[in-house]
Order: sequence, then C-alpha cells, then structure tokens
Amino acid sequence: MDYGMTPDLEEFRLQVRAFVAENAPDIAPKAGVRSAENPHELAVLKDWTRKLFAAGYVGGAWPERFGGRGPAHESERDVVIGEELARARTPAAVQGAANLVSNALIDFGTEQQREKYLPGIRSGELIFCQLFSEPNSGSDLASLRTKATRTDAAGYRVSGQKVWTTNGHWADYGYLLARTDPEAPKHRGISAFIVDMRLPGVDVRPLREMTGTSDFNEVFLDDVELAPDALIGEENHGWVIANSSLGHERSGVGANAVRLRRNVAALVELAGRVTIDGRPAIEDGAVLERLGGLSASVEALSALVYANISRWSGKAERVSDGPMAKLMFSELGVEIARLGVELCGEAGILVEGDPQAVDHGRWQDEFLYARAYTIAGGSSEIMRNIIAERGLGLPR
Ligand SMILES: Cc1cc2nc3c(=O)[nH]c(=O)nc-3n(C[C@H](O)[C@H](O)[C@H](O)COP(=O)(O)OP(=O)(O)OC[C@H]3O[C@@H](n4cnc5c(N)ncnc54)[C@H](O)[C@@H]3O)c2cc1C
Repeated sequence: MDYGMTPDLEEFRLQVRAFVAENAPDIAPKAGVRSAENPHELAVLKDWTRKLFAAGYVGGAWPERFGGRGPAHESERDVVIGEELARARTPAAVQGAANLVSNALIDFGTEQQREKYLPGIRSGELIFCQLFSEPNSGSDLASLRTKATRTDAAGYRVSGQKVWTTNGHWADYGYLLARTDPEAPKHRGISAFIVDMRLPGVDVRPLREMTGTSDFNEVFLDDVELAPDALIGEENHGWVIANSSLGHERSGVGANAVRLRRNVAALVELAGRVTIDGRPAIEDGAVLERLGGLSASVEALSALVYANISRWSGKAERVSDGPMAKLMFSELGVEIARLGVELCGEAGILVEGDPQAVDHGRWQDEFLYARAYTIAGGSSEIMRNIIAERGLGLPR
C-alpha cells in the first residue's frame, strides 16, 4: 500500500486502472498538458471526457442534479484517478478551464448559468478556455487591464488582450477576468465573465511553441458585447471567484509525482540501451549517481505529496504545502528531462517523426515542455516567495 492510501482507495485504483486500460484514447503520449493537434484528436478527447464524466471519474464533486456525487464525493479518489491517468500516460479530460469555470458556476453562478453550461461540459461537447493572463499581468494577475464597461443594455463591452490561452483555438467559451472598476484597489475592481468565443470582436491567434505544437493562443477582445447573464457572481467579486475556483484543483498533485517516477523508470531503461564511449550508459558512475539522486528526490516529493493530501483531508493544510510540492515537481521535471536528452547523445536533439529519434523524440519533447511547469500555475520564483513569506513568515 502506498503511504497515505487506504485499502478502499487501493481497490478503487484497480477499478480505475481497468477502466483506463479499456477506454483510454489512442493518442500518442506527449509531455505535459497539451491541446488537441487536429479536429480528429479533439473529437477523440471530447469522447474521452464524456466517458470520464459518465464513469464518475471527473465531476464527482458537482451537485448531484448535474451528475456529481454530491456530499458522498471523496476528494482522495480524484487523486487516485489523476495518478492512474499519469501512470498510463493517457491525457486527462479536455477539462482544464472547464473545470475552473464549473467550480465558479457551482459556487457563484445562477441556476440558469449552471443549466446552460454544466451539461455540455459533462458531455464533453463544450470546450472552455481560461482568459486570465495578459502580456503584462501573469504573476501579478490582479494588475490585469482588460476592461469591461457597462452598456445601456445592462450588459458589458470588453476590450483588452489575453495571452497563454490554452485551448483558445478550440474553445466555445472563455472564462474571463476583466476590470470593471478602475478606481477600486486592484483586487476589488475585477469581475468574472463567460465569453462566447464566436462573438464579433474576439480574435484568437494560435502561438507556435518551441515544442513545435500550438497549445496556447493570444486572444484579442475588441469591443466585445456581453449580455447581462455573462457575469458570474456579483460585479467586482471576480478575484474571490477566480481564487476559489483555482483552489478546488487538487487532482493533479499525485499525478505529478507519478509522472516523474515513471520518467525516472524510463530513464533507467534508456540508460541500459544507450552507450557512452562504447559502454552501456548504465555502467557509467556519473549516470548512476544522477539516476540515484533523481530517484531519491522523486520519492521525497511523493512522500511530501501524500503528507499534503493527509493534511488537506484533515483540513490542516498549510499555506506552503502546495507551493513546496509544485516547486519540487516542476524543477525536478527539468532535471529528469535534461538527463534523458543527454543520454540520447546526438540523437537527443531529434524530435518526433524523425526516424533516428530515440523513443520517438520523447526526451526532446519532455525537455522542451518541462520548463512550462516551472511557470504555469505560478512560477518557481513565486512559489519560493510564498514559502518564504507566508510559510516561514519572512519579511516581504
Ligand atoms: C503551460 C502553461 C499554460 C498556461 N495556460 C494558461 C491559460 O490557459 N490561461 C491563462 O490565463 N494563463 C495561462 N498560463 C499563464 C500563466 O498563468 C503565467 O505564465 C504565469 O502566471 C506567469 O506569468 P507571466 O508568464 O506573465 O510571467 P511574469 O509574471 O511576467 O514573470 C516573468 C518572470 O519574472 C518572475 N517574477 C515575477 N514576479 C516576481 C516576484 N514578485 N518575485 C520574483 N520573481 C518574479 C517570474 O518568476 C518569471 O520568471 C499558462 C502558462 C503556462 C506555462
């Protein structure tokens, strides 16, 4: 039994494992959280999303009338599901932003809004993107400048620019933060909205990243007219709503440690196949030292994650728990991917599709993507700041 897991959860794990083995989509594994590369992949991922919801493996915390398990939901099960998806190298549901907006609607939306969006999210039909970050507002998100002004029709007119918008090019709707009161202190003048991405004035421009794929977009909003029911919760409460919806997300924590453990195991196997100066890399003392160190760090991360999960279940979570795990996971991911590329030697620079690429270019893809995790959801510097200031109580 893994530390922190009860026999019940271990039994549940076997059910999930069998479900994943039978239903996982046939999509080549890639590092990180990636967008569909074409309409066919999108359709496959939507179908996978529908199956995950139908099995109760996603959306368990939703109200029962929208298909959730309500109070019977156990958050620890979400951790197990995330771990099993990571273990199988299978994508999670095309949820991402939909997950965030679902939480926002469940906690702050009107009944009409829930009825309008939640069933489509459950069926995999509706894709959402998260329109939070801007070119000059990422770590300091509350400084965002996209503005929403009231119209005579009691709706809003929105103008501004968003960036880093994952899935923006596939999205039906966006979960938007915009400034509604420029005079108020910065955290208090922001509101949350749902934007139909097909409205006039919404311009989505995919970005091509160093991985060679397009996962993110720039989104330009030019006098986009929103109806009154686009507002989520009360006007100027967007900061509270956004933080609350982000705070729900815990299913990834266990998955991250599993992902790294799996990558270290793949590195050990790789080191047995490739050579350094004509000898198997696995016999090289420096390689062994690095593999041993990485393995120890992954186990330390795993122990930290399970300790965090226990504290979180016991409602004794500490402010620096999440940031510590996130910092360790993302920085360790970079080190593991670096060793993978180094072990491939010259072929380490070759990408997927090249006949001479090692493991179909897996290590190059891991290497190029690994940095994204040190930025997404709060950069490593911000994590260290939180640990120092809020965890250790050091001066700001
Ligand atoms: C994979 C991925 C997916 C993403 N998806 C989305 C999405 O769908 N929607 C969305 O809205 N956003 C998304 N983001 C954006 C993400 O939230 C931001 O990248 C992140 O908040 C950092 O903001 P920034 O990129 O503007 O960097 P900045 O905030 O400009 O930071 C630049 C550098 O300065 C450092 N820095 C900043 N402030 C401080 C400080 N106070 N102390 C020390 N160092 C500091 C940072 O650590 C960083 O190294 C995504 C990002 C990634 C990587």
